[in-house]
Amino acid sequence: MIGVDLHTHSNISDGTLAPDLLVRAALEKGIHTLALTDHDTMDGLFQAEQTALDHPIRIISGVEISSQWSRPTTNKNYGVHIVALNMQNPEPLYQLLQQQKRIRAERAKQICDLLLPLINVDIYEDVLALVDHVPDRVTRTHIAKVLVAKGFVARPQQAFDKYIKEGKKAYVKFDGLGLEETIRVIHESQGFAVLAHPTRYDLSATNVRCLIELFAQYGGDAVELPPAIEPASTRQMVDRMIAQFNLKVSVGSDFHGDNMPWIKLGNIPRVKEGQVGIWESFK
Ligand code: AMP
Ligand code: MN
Ligand code: MN
Ligand code: MN
Repeated sequence: MIGVDLHTHSNISDGTLAPDLLVRAALEKGIHTLALTDHDTMDGLFQAEQTALDHPIRIISGVEISSQWSRPTTNKNYGVHIVALNMQNPEPLYQLLQQQKRIRAERAKQICDLLLPLINVDIYEDVLALVDHVPDRVTRTHIAKVLVAKGFVARPQQAFDKYIKEGKKAYVKFDGLGLEETIRVIHESQGFAVLAHPTRYDLSATNVRCLIELFAQYGGDAVELPPAIEPASTRQMVDRMIAQFNLKVSVGSDFHGDNMPWIKLGNIPRVKEGQVGIWESFK
């Protein structure tokens, strides 16, 4: 399992390394199985695959989909990230991503419009400049970067806390496809559906449990193991649910390059005895 990283970002979304440089960095780390999982886009895959030719590394097709779910009894909606891996027939997923890209592009403009009365500056053009003027690549990470560059906050995290996270004035929900439909499209594409970072959604333990149970009911394949920096009790909770719902596990660093310099490529949690890695099912 060492040498596997199934959750990484390139500068096609909010990472800082271009796909070719990401693959070269992975080779240097001794990674032999790498999934590029940019936000709602697979546009970096071809470059990654081309770079990997003639090198001892396998590129797994991937994407991190902005999805949403709700508890059957309460109807409150929560955002969730579903990583799709190893698609053998990606056409249905490409269709879904077209819609997701439209939502992402419109939301970027909406966030900048909401920021306008708060900071008295329209930062939309500066945000677009960070993504080669391709609006469907904009993430909140880019918006946070511009807010730092223009001196409105000292660090990206403060941009989230002050303006763009849930509950703040310039927050815009990502109105993506629902969890059940997302899993269905991934399966139509003959890929595997992975619940990304289950303990990173600011959910109560009860809601994490509910999310994992629903994910399993809808046919989800694997759950990402929490990083080693999270408390042992958190890991144990996730391990128990994975066992209870008979799910496989996935491992990924969620590498973002210099946008999150504390996350190291290839730094993945240990797989526990008895857990089955989703990579063992890859075609
Ligand atoms: P988006 O998909 O546009 O909502 O952007 C989501 C990305 O922003 C995530 O993948 C993280 O990289 C980053 N992010 C989300 N929430 C936070 C937060 N509270 N603090 C810092 N970065 C965050
Ligand atoms: Mn990100
Ligand atoms: Mn994520
Ligand atoms: Mn990610």
